[in-house]
Amino acid sequence: MDRILIVEDEEKLARFLELELAHEGYAVEKAFDGRTGLDLAENGGFDLILLDVMLPGMSGLEVLRRLRRTDAVPVIVLTARDAVMDKVTGLDMGANDYITKPFEIEELLARIRAALRSGGHSDPASSGVLVSGGLTLDPARRTVLWNGTPVALTNREFELLRTLMRNRGIVMTREKLLEQVWGYDYAGETNVVDVYIRYLRQKIDDAFGVKLIHTVRGVGYAFRDAEGR
Ligand code: CA
Repeated sequence: MDRILIVEDEEKLARFLELELAHEGYAVEKAFDGRTGLDLAENGGFDLILLDVMLPGMSGLEVLRRLRRTDAVPVIVLTARDAVMDKVTGLDMGANDYITKPFEIEELLARIRAALRSGGHSDPASSGVLVSGGLTLDPARRTVLWNGTPVALTNREFELLRTLMRNRGIVMTREKLLEQVWGYDYAGETNVVDVYIRYLRQKIDDAFGVKLIHTVRGVGYAFRDAEGR
């Protein structure tokens, strides 16, 4: 049974989520402030954490920042409507996903299932190691190696690279990448893709003197191996 921690100071919402998640067969614990949430998260052995951003004591983003020093547990951030900065910051800090309040419970459940699948649990569809030239990406271990040298990527950079490598040689539009890496309802600008492509290039192409991530002018981006395939 997967164990979920809800960190949410709106007690009514927290209790509602607890009931719904228990009904789905999850074991649930709740915390109503950031500090308690962090303590539980660090010691509770949870499979997933639902983390509100606006919390008394310690903000959800601070909880996430501290948690990520030691723990890769999947985290879904709950943000207020239009709090675009919270979403972007949350994802940069290693949140696996976010959902905007108010949300439909069915959508949250779907995202929970997806996050649990991608959180290192068995998922045959996504466990395949991707190798292209000197670059190796291992989804289960969350590692990227260039000829054996580890490349440190954030979660979002990792997912972007993984999507590009999976579609090696295929030109991916910004919209397609947004949909696959950020989620279909990501309301941000497509230039967030350009920003992350730049990060990836710095960490891979520039760092190792190769050209793997190609810009296709007016269309999008493509991953090609050293032979251009
Ligand atoms: Ca709140």
